[in-house]
Amino acid sequence: HVTIGILALQGAFAEHQVAFQKVSVRKRVVVVQVRTTAELDQCDALVIPGGESTTIALLARLSGLLDPLREFIARKPVWGTCAGAILLARSVEGAKKGGQELLGGMSITIQRNGWGSQVESFEAPLDVCDLRDPQRPFTGVFIRAPVLLTLDTTPIDPPISVIARLPSSVLPRLVKNTLDQHDTDSQVTRTAVAIRQGRHFLTTFHPELTEDYRFHDYFVRECVLPEMR
Ligand code: GLN
Repeated sequence: HVTIGILALQGAFAEHQVAFQKVSVRKRVVVVQVRTTAELDQCDALVIPGGESTTIALLARLSGLLDPLREFIARKPVWGTCAGAILLARSVEGAKKGGQELLGGMSITIQRNGWGSQVESFEAPLDVCDLRDPQRPFTGVFIRAPVLLTLDTTPIDPPISVIARLPSSVLPRLVKNTLDQHDTDSQVTRTAVAIRQGRHFLTTFHPELTEDYRFHDYFVRECVLPEMR
């Protein structure tokens, strides 16, 4: 079996644990909560949940987990959701004064709370690919979600693939400043809400808050199990 750790310092970690118990390959998966380096050492893969990225980073620092997490990310599959996606970014915009501690691992720049305060939370049907049953819509739950600003891959980085996007039909509902309708480059990046790079995975929404476990299934099948062979 594979052991998937859920970083359990703050945020929606319990929901992820429940979700992994529902995936099609659940018999091969053991899920543990991670609060210490010893617990992290037992894991084959890790999920960094949604919550507050600054709080999670602060608690990770206080727990002596920052460097062990960075070393883990360099070697093993990691999935960041929402706040976790911010922590996996190489750089961030919209951070508080004094900056924001990141773990890095994915070659992207992300904007904290990027959909703005007017639309702090929304749900939207996503265009998905590479999931099981891709014709079936997936409802993305966005809670003060970050926005992908740029993909910053260099020739030595693994390529990035987009697994889910906000469809153009929902864009007019979202704040105007966030998305320049005339700038196709920025639309291509900013509408991407689930991306994969090598063994790492990122979703700016919360798949653990819906009862559709296809993203959990995807992470196990596509990012975690291939690393175990
Ligand atoms: N806005 C939060 C942050 O900046 C993320 C919100 C979430 O994880 N739902 O960390």
